Amino acid sequence: MISRVRIRDRSKCRSYSATYRAKNLAKVRAANRRYAATCKDKRRITKLMMRYGLRPDQYDAMAKAQSYLCAICNKSLKLYVDHHKASGVVRGLLCRDCNLGLGYFKESPDALSCAAKYLAERHEMPLHEAQTRKREPNQLAFWSGEPVKE
Ligand SMILES: [Zn+2]
Repeated sequence: MISRVRIRDRSKCRSYSATYRAKNLAKVRAANRRYAATCKDKRRITKLMMRYGLRPDQYDAMAKAQSYLCAICNKSLKLYVDHHKASGVVRGLLCRDCNLGLGYFKESPDALSCAAKYLAERHEMPLHEAQTRKREPNQLAFWSGEPVKE
């Protein structure tokens, strides 16, 4: 019985709120921007604690220890917390691309070393062979691994 009253009141409240928003859109948006700006740090702290169990001072200490650089590519970009997905253990701070890359390789050191080996082997691919592939996209051409003789 009480819940019916609450639902009815809530729907009135929603319609009033929608009407108020429509009439005072600029005022509401300005208030939302102010609220978001003041809560940005709070959201960051909550996210660090909830997802990784990290306090902001711990995050800052990790970033300082890494000289505010990505632990893999050493680029000075926004740093994201890298953690072991199964155990939740925080490993370090990475840029977005490196963090996503680890995820795409399922955090497997074997897969990553195979990818590194693959890239190192194919790095010496002759340029004109790569250009041939671009010109003929329907024909499959695989690099034999042997240097192309001209
Ligand atoms: Zn990186």
